[in-house]
Amino acid sequence: MKTYIVGNWKLNFTVGEASIYLHKLMKALPNHRDMEVVVAPSTVALQPLSLQIDRHKMKLAAQNAFYRDYGAYTGETSFLQLSGIVDYAIVGHSEQRYIFGQDDKMIAKEVAAAVRNRIRPILCIGETESERAFGETTDVIRDQLLGGLSEIADDDLEKVIIAYEPVWAISSTKVSKLATPDEVAEVVKLIRKTLVDTYGKKATEKVSVLFGGSVNPSNAGAYLTVPGINGLLIGGSSLILSEFTDIIEVAKRVKV
Ligand code: PEP
Repeated sequence: MKTYIVGNWKLNFTVGEASIYLHKLMKALPNHRDMEVVVAPSTVALQPLSLQIDRHKMKLAAQNAFYRDYGAYTGETSFLQLSGIVDYAIVGHSEQRYIFGQDDKMIAKEVAAAVRNRIRPILCIGETESERAFGETTDVIRDQLLGGLSEIADDDLEKVIIAYEPVWAISSTKVSKLATPDEVAEVVKLIRKTLVDTYGKKATEKVSVLFGGSVNPSNAGAYLTVPGINGLLIGGSSLILSEFTDIIEVAKRVKV
């Protein structure tokens, strides 16, 4: 299985800054056989960066897109419009769920629209701090996972990448707010068991599961060695070139 290192740039970098970063990243990128390095710039930067990127070295992801192909949806960009421009799309990120009100029904349609347009969705799931405190983690993870997958055919399961991102561990500067590798292991086990129970063992073996939540070069190795983890989704640290390439180096040492 490939190891995925995915940088989520969120609402950062102008198109010019994104282009300069990409140029530097492609130059600095260590050899990385069996690893897929992906960055997710703002939508406006995707098309120009798609002309600049060397797809043998790395790939682009969208941060979000709308599930209808065309129509009266002012302000939206469709997966159809992104096909040929990106290879991946982040779907159901917690910032889309909690700031912009996306729910599992909408997210399921986005996962299906991505697959339909030959873009691999990275379906983000994760519990909030209060859901964890109230012992609801298992239910939330199951609901978001099976809800998000509910609009695709079983045969398409392997096209979807799952990212476990505990909401309370995202963009954290406090060590006490980092997920421990044991906490991550427990939820990854639950994700894989839920998939096996629903789709069978064989179909589930091909599904990649990533972890995201304040990953940096010092903790990346510990998360990458959690059983069942195939890579990382990185926000803040992916904006700093040296940190992002250090994480890729760690992944090379640990996984390849
Ligand atoms: C994210 O937003 O997907 C993320 C993991 O962010 P950070 O690494 O900054 O916690």
